[in-house]
Amino acid sequence: MREGAVLPPGPAHFPPPRHYGNGVIRGPWGAFGMAGPSAAEQRWLQAAEDFARRALSAREGPGRTEAPPLDAVLRCLRSVGGGDLPLGYSFISISDLQHQQCEPCCSHLTWSTNEFKEWAHQGQGSLPMQKPLPRAYLILVGYLTDGRQEDKEQLVDGCLYVKDNTGIMPCELLHFELEWLESLFLFPSWSYIPQTDQSSGYMEILVDPVPISLLKEVPDSIPVACPASAEPLLTSRIPCKKTSKLTVAGELARLGPLLCIHHKTFFFLFLKCFTSSVLVPVLVQKSNQLAWHHVLQLGHRYTITNLSLSSLKKSKQRMFVTGVSSCLLPYCADQVREQAVYSVWRGESTQPSFLAEQLNDSLEVGFEDEPTRTTKESKIISYVGTVTKILNIQAGLFLLDNKVCLCLAYQQLLNYARGLRPGACVELIDVHLLQKPLLSFPFVVLGACLSSTVVLKSFSRLSTPYQPPATSGNLYLQLLFRYNLGMPLYLWLVSLLEMFEERFYCFFGRRRLLLSSARRNSGAAEKFLVPLLQAVVPDREKERDVYNEILAKIHHCPLQKYLTLNPPCQAPPLSAVRRAAEEKSWEGFSPSQLLSPLETQHMVTQELNRRLAWSYCTLTAESFQPRLILLGVLRVSSRTSSLQLQDKTSTLPCVISHKDGSPFASTALIGSLLQVENYQLIVERFLQTDFPSWEYLANLEHVREKKTSVYVQCYFKDVQVLLGAEGQIQKSLRSGNSSSLRKKDNSSLTSELETPEAKILKLEDPKPETRGDGNCQGGQSCTRGTMCVSRLFLVTQKEGLMSRNYQLPGEEDEKGGELQPSFQATVLWLGKPRLWSHSKEMGNLPELEETSCDGAEGMTQQEALLLFMGKSLRWFPFLHLDGLYRFIVPYCSDLEVFDKLCFPPVPVKCLSRSSCPLCLPVQDTWHLQHETWISCLPERWLATRSVLKGMDQRISSIPEVLSNSFAGSLVSFSGDIVGRTLCASPKNEKSSANVGLQKQKGSLLASDHSVKLSISVAPCSPIVIEVYIAATYLQHLRGLLPGAKILFQNLERKISRFHNVYCTYIASSCVSIICLPASHLPFPTSPAGEALSPSLVFLCNLQPHLQNLPQAPRILCHLSCVLTLSLQWVCSLCSSIFKEGRCTRNNPPCPSHIGVRQASARVLVEDGTGEALVLCRNQHVAAMLGLSLPEWEALQNCVQSRGSVFIQHGEATGTGCVEEPEDLIACYLRSLCRSPLICRPILLDFSLDRKPSKIQHTAPLQLRNFRCGEVEFVSQVGHRPSLLCLNVQEVEGDALSYLNSERIVRTSCH
Ligand SMILES: [Zn+2]
Ligand SMILES: [Zn+2]
Repeated sequence: MREGAVLPPGPAHFPPPRHYGNGVIRGPWGAFGMAGPSAAEQRWLQAAEDFARRALSAREGPGRTEAPPLDAVLRCLRSVGGGDLPLGYSFISISDLQHQQCEPCCSHLTWSTNEFKEWAHQGQGSLPMQKPLPRAYLILVGYLTDGRQEDKEQLVDGCLYVKDNTGIMPCELLHFELEWLESLFLFPSWSYIPQTDQSSGYMEILVDPVPISLLKEVPDSIPVACPASAEPLLTSRIPCKKTSKLTVAGELARLGPLLCIHHKTFFFLFLKCFTSSVLVPVLVQKSNQLAWHHVLQLGHRYTITNLSLSSLKKSKQRMFVTGVSSCLLPYCADQVREQAVYSVWRGESTQPSFLAEQLNDSLEVGFEDEPTRTTKESKIISYVGTVTKILNIQAGLFLLDNKVCLCLAYQQLLNYARGLRPGACVELIDVHLLQKPLLSFPFVVLGACLSSTVVLKSFSRLSTPYQPPATSGNLYLQLLFRYNLGMPLYLWLVSLLEMFEERFYCFFGRRRLLLSSARRNSGAAEKFLVPLLQAVVPDREKERDVYNEILAKIHHCPLQKYLTLNPPCQAPPLSAVRRAAEEKSWEGFSPSQLLSPLETQHMVTQELNRRLAWSYCTLTAESFQPRLILLGVLRVSSRTSSLQLQDKTSTLPCVISHKDGSPFASTALIGSLLQVENYQLIVERFLQTDFPSWEYLANLEHVREKKTSVYVQCYFKDVQVLLGAEGQIQKSLRSGNSSSLRKKDNSSLTSELETPEAKILKLEDPKPETRGDGNCQGGQSCTRGTMCVSRLFLVTQKEGLMSRNYQLPGEEDEKGGELQPSFQATVLWLGKPRLWSHSKEMGNLPELEETSCDGAEGMTQQEALLLFMGKSLRWFPFLHLDGLYRFIVPYCSDLEVFDKLCFPPVPVKCLSRSSCPLCLPVQDTWHLQHETWISCLPERWLATRSVLKGMDQRISSIPEVLSNSFAGSLVSFSGDIVGRTLCASPKNEKSSANVGLQKQKGSLLASDHSVKLSISVAPCSPIVIEVYIAATYLQHLRGLLPGAKILFQNLERKISRFHNVYCTYIASSCVSIICLPASHLPFPTSPAGEALSPSLVFLCNLQPHLQNLPQAPRILCHLSCVLTLSLQWVCSLCSSIFKEGRCTRNNPPCPSHIGVRQASARVLVEDGTGEALVLCRNQHVAAMLGLSLPEWEALQNCVQSRGSVFIQHGEATGTGCVEEPEDLIACYLRSLCRSPLICRPILLDFSLDRKPSKIQHTAPLQLRNFRCGEVEFVSQVGHRPSLLCLNVQEVEGDALSYLNSERIVRTSCH
């Protein structure tokens, strides 16, 4: 046995063939006999000679000039070919094979065509769809080596290689002998499996190679200790060093896989005593002995020399260890003398007897069990099967026989998976059988642990590719070993990682995505997975003990016990997220659940269907099973001008909010891979229905069309960046050292100032291919070297996105008059344009230093109107009022670039230059970079800030806006959305010109609709302002949901003809979401606030302190009298009076046959501190009149015959409604209204009805007497507030006296 010494590098040490025939060098023609070679033969022989000189010649060295062993090769070829030379074949060198052969191929030197066909056909057995390996006619001659002679030490990795002078290539053999090493062979039958990366292709040696020269001799007999006598050495306490070198013989019972730990490659083998079941472990660790792994065959008998005893530091387990001079020899009984090792010890076997059941038996037994929550024990079996598919090579997962999954990950190196191509046959010995380790995993799993043996039985005959597993930085294996994962968790990890890679490799390239922590920064996949693993594997104490796993007598490994895993979370593709969200939103949906039945009864057709047209539901991560984690690349679409998360499958619009109300403007995040676990997935449902009335709600035939729109909303603080757009942003986000301008008093505004390096050129929708591996690196370094120009500005006004017909100079003819989506912003230039040789230099705001010196003068004149169209529309979601931004023009050194593009907004002839800012169309290639907010400028720029401060928006309070004294038409305020209703657009809206365009854009709301948002100061506060938003604007506005806190800017304040203040959303308005609605209710179908307990107030307190009202106001009051009462049936279509089953409208006649009951009443109430007028509708009228539901039903039915009834307190007023005294119902109602029984104490929940606001403050104060129960009051009474009844409750005696006493206490304090 040669010593594994490393030879110094250099060609001089290439070994000559060991034996060189008889030493006589014969000419290559010598063997041809008398006739002499033909011309073809001559050419062939010339080629052979050339080949031998190039590929096989011995290396030159001092005193060594050996001719190429061509004649030996030819002799060998003749003997293999039955005397003939294979003239149809040509020699190929290793290097030519590597460089010229791109497809898998095989070569069989001696086979006939039929033999080859037969062989190929048999190989297709399990995979008939796969093509067999194509046949090449090549002669391969080379040396077999374990790599020890190469100059690189690391090549000795336990693999075998074929080499010649031109190159070296790994090879796999099914049978190998140690004496073959470093000998020259002819390979009669082999397959070559290339790789795109030439160095990783390999060769499968199908038939034993034929030695070209003679091989080494077998060594002499040596003294041997058989395992049974050697085992006492292992179990005794004798210190290891005292024992001398031993030779041990035995039958190979177990062969461990090659392992590489701490850069040391080794393996274990177990020899069994010939006569008992005693096993001894042998550690093979010298690099020149790793090739033994290819020789050793289970069940064969071997002798190993020069073993020494050793024990493990940690577990003190003992084993034999090979020394440098140890040899592996086949065991021959007559060559061996038994060596006595102390006393012969034959203890009882402690070896666990492994079951070697057939897989099929186990499958039949095991499958009936339902997946239980109890820990299961895996069976240990042996199995022979054919690889039919590579499930995931990096993860070491293969499919055998189309039904079982083989997992080699626990064996670490997987032998580089060479030979394990589809079609190859493997024998698995002592592998763990795991059934359903993961609920979603479809196969039974055979897990090979460190005591399992995987033997390649035959090579694949199919032309199936070889995918080499990553040898270093394989994240699958790294995480498996780092967290000591069991099979269920490992398979879950694999599924997550596969999905992750599949979804995002087209954006970042596989390498950047899966980069493992072997490098300095952990990659995106690791950032995503490690927290998930840490959550499920809390005790990382139990590190995997590899040695114990191999050596312990009682088998112990991570595959023994398992629990079927219900994955704790999932991160499916966005297309699946969208689909699941849509499904959930319609799950168990019925139109009736959207409306309260008491309300719907009184709705006419149009209103009913409109109220059903738009609804939504909120889903969170926990709405899905398992919990759903959102991953996506942040993009902005210039088509829809919205932020979106994107993966390979789909996009999902998203809304990101800051809790402090500052808008999301982090341009630096574009292109980054984000992870969001805390989010709201909103499904807006759009229904087109034609329900005639509420009675038909159950009949879903009236639902004509269902559509949904899904988007996600979340807080910026809940967004985790897994991978920065260009790798740099991430770092600056974390380190946070770049921001000298960070907002001091607000921590949520963290990412505003990133190093702008590489933010340039982050164009929207780059072609995925161009961003692939490596490309972006190169692109970035290019950018670094180029000049760019930047200019800082402040946004003073931003207008909404709409279709405008801009005419840019120079394109008068083509696009004139054509509408295209655009938006514009008025900005103030800060400082002069600046030139940067290096985009990295940017980061501070030198422009501001400059302007602060100039003072205010220089600043105010430099206004410009920015025009965003086409691709630059993507900046819409990032550009906000009061923000300081910078345009960066890449690859540009022209400081006048901005000025050159400006043009006057109106033709020059009608220009009054001083007042109009110049228009600047924003170019597609420009990059926008958000720097900071005006409110965040630090002290040293206070001067600048004070100048700019004038531009700052003033935020009003809702009561201020509502107040009559408010001046100004544009308002900004914040508040909670308490209601969202779809209504018909006001008729005076004249924006019908682009109706057609809006429809094209796929707005899901009819364009003639608008949305009324009720905004209150706080949830359930009675002070509400209404904001109307036309459908045109709605397609860009997301997140306007009840419960959300919103900041509105630049709404138009209007006053209705009832003198109510309301607001409309106009082109220059904008909204930002400060607080997302609470999402504890998975389906918030009822408005929030039901759970709130109302608090009692006094009528006298209502008016002066509107804003101080409690959230759910209620009064304890006395119903004084019913002023008016009206009951009617109206037509569901036209709202005319409906009488005796028909609509009364005649001109034109109405076809409707459905009437709807409606009721209203106006009552006077007092609570001792004041009086109020209360308007009640529908079911509240019944409650006010104290009627039970059946009584109310009967009453309404009676009205049907005459259509309507109107009662009014005191005939004198004469409002034109004539009562018919003879009518029974009218009589009944009138007496009911005048009955003293009606006048009773009630609890009234209300909201303020501000309609008659005009008469406020006009009524003089007066003294009035009040009575409440037994208590009498005299009170000063002002005007009567108008209330809208929300609920009426009767007051029981006990409650009344309690409430009264409570009230007296409070009044006296008052
Ligand atoms: Zn095991
Ligand atoms: Zn009608």
